[in-house]
Amino acid sequence: MTAEFFYEGDLVAVLTAQPIDRFLDYKAPESGCHLGAFVEVPLGPRKVLGVVWGKGAGDFDYAKVRSVMRVLDVAPMREEMREFLTRAADYTLTPMSAMLRLATRAPGLGDAPSMRTVYRLGSAEPTRVTEARTKVLEVLCDYGGLSFTLGELAEMAGVGTSVVKGLVKQGAVSEEDAPRDVPYPRLDPDYGGKELSADQADGAEVLRAALRTDAYGTTLLKGVTGSGKTEVYLEAVAECLRMGRQALVLLPEIALSGEFINRVEARFGFKPAEWHSGVTMTERRRCWKMVGQGAAQLIVGARSALFLPFQNLGLIVVDEEHDTSYKQEDGVLYNARDMAVLRAAINGAQVVLASATPSLESWANVEAGKYTRLVLSSRYGPAVMPKMSAIDMRAEDLPGGTWVSPTLRDAIAERMERGEQSLIFLNRRGYAPVTLCRACGNQIGCDQCDARMVEHRFLNRLMCHQCGETKPMPKVCPHCDAEDKLSAVGPGVERMGEEITALFPDARVAVLSSDLYGSARAMKAHIEQISQGGTDIIIGTQLVAKGHNFPLLTLVGVIDADLGLQGSDLRAAERTFQLMRQVAGRAGRAEKQGEALLQTYQPEHAVIRAILVGDEEKFWAAEAGERKAAGVPPYGRMAGIILSSPNADDVFNLGAEMARRDGPLRQIGAQVYGPAPAPIARVRGRHRVRLLVKADKAAPLQKALAAWAAQFRLPTNTRLSIDIDPQSFY
Ligand code: ADP
Ligand code: ZN
Repeated sequence: MTAEFFYEGDLVAVLTAQPIDRFLDYKAPESGCHLGAFVEVPLGPRKVLGVVWGKGAGDFDYAKVRSVMRVLDVAPMREEMREFLTRAADYTLTPMSAMLRLATRAPGLGDAPSMRTVYRLGSAEPTRVTEARTKVLEVLCDYGGLSFTLGELAEMAGVGTSVVKGLVKQGAVSEEDAPRDVPYPRLDPDYGGKELSADQADGAEVLRAALRTDAYGTTLLKGVTGSGKTEVYLEAVAECLRMGRQALVLLPEIALSGEFINRVEARFGFKPAEWHSGVTMTERRRCWKMVGQGAAQLIVGARSALFLPFQNLGLIVVDEEHDTSYKQEDGVLYNARDMAVLRAAINGAQVVLASATPSLESWANVEAGKYTRLVLSSRYGPAVMPKMSAIDMRAEDLPGGTWVSPTLRDAIAERMERGEQSLIFLNRRGYAPVTLCRACGNQIGCDQCDARMVEHRFLNRLMCHQCGETKPMPKVCPHCDAEDKLSAVGPGVERMGEEITALFPDARVAVLSSDLYGSARAMKAHIEQISQGGTDIIIGTQLVAKGHNFPLLTLVGVIDADLGLQGSDLRAAERTFQLMRQVAGRAGRAEKQGEALLQTYQPEHAVIRAILVGDEEKFWAAEAGERKAAGVPPYGRMAGIILSSPNADDVFNLGAEMARRDGPLRQIGAQVYGPAPAPIARVRGRHRVRLLVKADKAAPLQKALAAWAAQFRLPTNTRLSIDIDPQSFY
């Protein structure tokens, strides 16, 4: 890359992460700087981080222009990264400053490299050889020229730190200061590959061949849970590493478990670099810097890892590509799956989208010939797909206030006898979704939001799932003061725990819900214990639908298969189909046949039938037909506009004015719907009004939206947010 260079005094345009919507001119520093350099510049009384984006505009009195203070000691931002940020900003209608913030989410980038003491093999022989000393030296020999901290080395050798110190005195181990941000160990693409099934081997070869083209391409890797997709895409990662390029594996945050990292270690000899919310700040900075220097070959991370400064990105894997958590729902509203494709297209890299239940978007892109489809048709090894059937709740006889049908109860009892595990799935956190006063009929709501409070008996509080506000469980009705009249209506997972314990007093029961754990670590430890057979009956929310492997699990019972079908979300059918198939896929992952039972009041519903029959192609074709007819994604384009303010009149008036003055949208043939109160009309005390814009697939929607929104002045305290391709409609 021939990076443009600016000499002392040249004017440069700098992008900062401050919310200012333009580039600022500065004089290049004494030693000059490259295009893309990370710099520190004065802004008012402060010093801020910025990136040299090009030549300055020069429309300001030269004498008054201030100078760049310092060029940071990190790799300059590459041209492709600048293009990626620009295009992602255009697509999501996000200011560039916010994009830069996403791309610099590591602390202390400007700090001088901090040092730490490390230990490596010395030149002298130890004077006296003991078993402990030999172990230390063996570790150091095994790992070639690598160095370790005192704690690491002692732990790996299984000795006390004093043994290492003793060896240092004799010169057998050397002690030195080294930068804290050290390269990640080199991964060996040929370290621990598994013998692949014929299906897998064919798939792996298709992906390897795609990588060798050195060009952009996207492959949808489809196969039921347990079909061995991970093994296949790790072969693509291996090929990418052999080619000397970097690879990124994105996982939904919830699936970023030690289990996956251990698999990578078993495959490549070392752990990869990690980038997600559980990573410490020091480790984040190391990861960011090493990715930029090409000293991290494989990064496993959550969606924001897409914004790391890769030097030579060759492959992005998006595992569970249909997962809704890839859409960031606050701040910059982007979909990591789509942005991965954009980034790869700019970089000449390959994308692998892996899923058992792909999104309709990806399905449509395959149909349109934009993506290649690769299918793994059976489960790896002896495991087969579970048998699926419905329990018609209209024909079941169960007492009020209970939700486990006799049929499901018998099926669980059978598993208990055989020493196998059952999973009861209900996608509702807490004890009960509604708390009702039997005297006045009042349902307890959140003071700040237009939402009902959910009882969490474990915490002994009511909680709003919109804003997180909690309050103690009241003794009397807050509306009519009646005593002892408040009652829990409907089930949450905690309540299911009670019911199951009453039905099976001898069973070991575990309720898995994210809010029941103090930390992600505690939850992981519990999941680990469950997968080793420490539990007979697991009760869980969608947390358990994702990625965890419970080998003893042979029965999945879905309490309310109809739950996701209610509501106005255009993806309701798709989501239910995906979630049900995924949950069912938890059963029978080892050699035993699994079974999934879906409790439903509408066994004839088209979606429920499609789930049971498992005829995916038919389901997708029908779903695609409906969306095409309605002109909605992926066959049309949509944008959601949310206006919010503490003042209800302000947002309604503004919404009405926006709907009236829709010229720029009409010009591209787009329609505006609304304003209407958002489905959740008040959150955290802010009133919310939404408009929906619908356009043809080929229409230049973003440009028109920008021109449209620019016509209006927002009243004080009013916020306008535009969500391109909205995934949630609340
Ligand atoms: P998926 O990603 O499709 O859910 P995985 O790749 O996780 O499937 O494979 C499911 C299980 O089968 C894992 O425990 C994995 O280690 C094992 N497995 C898959 N392929 C092979 C193989 N070729 N040899 C041995 N074990 C395999
Ligand atoms: Zn609330």
